[in-house]
Amino acid sequence: MSDDQFQQSTVFLKKAVPLMMKYKVPTTPTNYALWYTYVANTDPKLTADVDTTVHEHGTCSPLQSDILYQKHMADKHSQNIGSLKQSLESMMTEMSHSMSDTLQDTDAFHSVLDKTFEQLSRVENEGLSIDETIAVVRNVVKDSQALTQSTRYFKHQLSDAQQEIAQLKQNLAEMTEQATHDGLTGLLNRAAFEREINAYTENAQTWPFALVLVDLDHFKQLNDTYGHVLGDIALKQVAKRLLDYCREGVQAFRYGGEEFALLLPKRRLNSAKRTAETLRAAIDRMVIKDRRRGQTLDHITVSMGVAEYDEHARESGADLIYRADQQLYKAKNLGRNRVMPIN
Ligand code: GH3
Ligand code: MG
Ligand code: MG
Repeated sequence: MSDDQFQQSTVFLKKAVPLMMKYKVPTTPTNYALWYTYVANTDPKLTADVDTTVHEHGTCSPLQSDILYQKHMADKHSQNIGSLKQSLESMMTEMSHSMSDTLQDTDAFHSVLDKTFEQLSRVENEGLSIDETIAVVRNVVKDSQALTQSTRYFKHQLSDAQQEIAQLKQNLAEMTEQATHDGLTGLLNRAAFEREINAYTENAQTWPFALVLVDLDHFKQLNDTYGHVLGDIALKQVAKRLLDYCREGVQAFRYGGEEFALLLPKRRLNSAKRTAETLRAAIDRMVIKDRRRGQTLDHITVSMGVAEYDEHARESGADLIYRADQQLYKAKNLGRNRVMPIN
């Protein structure tokens, strides 16, 4: 990394951090990588996606940051890691040349360098992303002039970098653990839903917004009659219909077994109810054919409860879910295949 490049990175970082603070995005390595790339403007698709997210939601929640990272950055590290490692190695060699003049204990110095290369191969073997790795290296080269003054200081920096690598690894593991999507339907999962609805309630920029809870009618009976395999197919088809409504910032989640949720940003109750009613009718018209067994399912219906976030009461996410759930309960009691409230 030349001085120029290093200075340029600092400029980008100084732009990225205030944005992350504005949108309350946690300062994890992956989020840094995303927002760094955004302000550097090196990936037009990513830039456009971030802009759209901010436009549609009035913010970019931690969940949306994760999703954008997964979409634009997570898969890139494997193809680039080779060339990255090369440039890191040459950078380290360069550093070692510039330092060797001032160093008395060359043996100690070399063992430190060996360790550095060891770290680099761990980076490769353990699959940190490009940007995470660069963050580690940025830490190492930070104050590179001061670095040349003593081995001790260099060692200190290296141990910082080692700690940071360990931290990055842990963060990465955590990210995998809190995977955001449901395996069967591909929708966002319940953990994602809870994070997102809480982010919405806590950030006035996203108000107003509405919640729709969707529950399949008599689904136990459908499973009992046609079997779990067809039940799963029905769930996937319903999920597909929900995805059709994921425009203008609407997000669909698998909330539970046969329960789904839609979060609708910038929408009031009436508008959300209209969307719910269109969706209900679309699911009502759905026909699922199982050719292998010659079975046809054409009576899948859903009940829905809709609620608008009460911004005056500043209710919690749980309160909002409770109110939508009460409406869903009413829809069930009134005979199912309907959206509540009516008025
Ligand atoms: P209601 O109209 O009152 O909602 O009746 P219901 O039968 O849909 O509700 P209930 O809660 O009694 O049953 C839900 C059923 O959903 C029970 C469970 O076997 C089924 N289910 C939950 N998750 C899955 C899944 O992943 N696959 C399949 N095939 N079935 C599931
Ligand atoms: Mg249910
Ligand atoms: Mg049900």
